[in-house]
Amino acid sequence: MTTLYQPAIDLDALHALDMHTHVHASVTEDAAAVNASLAAMAKFFKSDELPPGTLPDLAAYYRLRNVAAVTFTVDPGPAAAEPALTSDEIVDLAAKNNDIVIPFGSVHPDRGEEGARLAERLIVEGGVRGFKFHPNAMSFFPNDRKAYDLYEVLNAHRIPALFHTGQSGAGAGTRGGGGMRLKYSNPLHLDDVAVDFPDMPIVLAHPSFPWQEEALAIAVHKPQVHIDLSGWSPKYFPPILVQYANTLLRDKVLFGSDFPLITPDRWLADLEKIGIRDEVKPGLMKGNAIRLLGL
Ligand SMILES: [Zn+2]
Repeated sequence: MTTLYQPAIDLDALHALDMHTHVHASVTEDAAAVNASLAAMAKFFKSDELPPGTLPDLAAYYRLRNVAAVTFTVDPGPAAAEPALTSDEIVDLAAKNNDIVIPFGSVHPDRGEEGARLAERLIVEGGVRGFKFHPNAMSFFPNDRKAYDLYEVLNAHRIPALFHTGQSGAGAGTRGGGGMRLKYSNPLHLDDVAVDFPDMPIVLAHPSFPWQEEALAIAVHKPQVHIDLSGWSPKYFPPILVQYANTLLRDKVLFGSDFPLITPDRWLADLEKIGIRDEVKPGLMKGNAIRLLGL
C-alpha cells in the first residue's frame, strides 16, 4: 500500500451507494481463471453472466451507473497461502478510483496481534472506511475473544465492521458445503459484540435467513447496528424485513447488491416491485450509508 485513500465522490449527484460489493481478482492475475472458480456460486445466485472481477473493472461498471460502491476482498487468514488480491491492493486501486469506490479492509481474526496492527495501518495509512468479516469462510463466532484485539482498533477509530449473516451462497451445493458451517453466521452472536464495542458501528449483511427476526431485534435494540440488504433480490425479502425497513429501521437499512453475484441493475429494478415506501428510499439508497460511513 502506497496511497492514502480519500473519497472524492459527488454525493448529491450520486444515484445510489452500494454497501456491499466484492472484488475477486487481483490486477496481477488472470481474471478469467478467477471467474471460472466463481461459477458454482453464480449458479446458486442464478446470475447469467459475471462481470470481470478486478477493482478497476468494478469501478468502470459502477461509474457508468453513477452508483458508488463499498468494496473489499476477504482475507483467507494466516493458514492459507498469501492471496494475489490483498486489502493493500484494494486501497491502492480505490485511491485511483476515489470518485466512485470506497475501500473496506479485511483481516482474519486468526492473525491475532499482527492482525490488529494490520487493521490500524489500513485505517491510518490506507484510509479504509470499514472492515468486512465472513464468519463462515473465516470459521469463527463473531463474539469469539480472539477477534477482540481487532475490534478494539475499529472501536477506537469508530470504523464500521460488516459481517456476513445468515445462509451463505459461498459453498452452497458443493461437497460438505465447501467447509462452511452455517452456525457461525447467526446474527445473535453480534449482539454480544455490539455490547462490548458500543462505538464500533456494525452492519449485519444480508437478510439473515433463517434468523431474520434475530437480526431485526438486534438492529432495533442496539443503536450502532445496521442492516445491508445485499445478496438477495428484494423480491425474496421476507415480509417482516420490508415492514421494519419501512418503519423502525428506516434510518438503518442500506442498499447493497453483493456484486458481482447480484448486479445493482437487477437489485434496484426489483426494489421497485416490493412495498418499500417512497419516502424510505432516499435513505435506503444512499443517505443512511453516507451517514454511517461519515462521507
Ligand atoms: Zn459479501
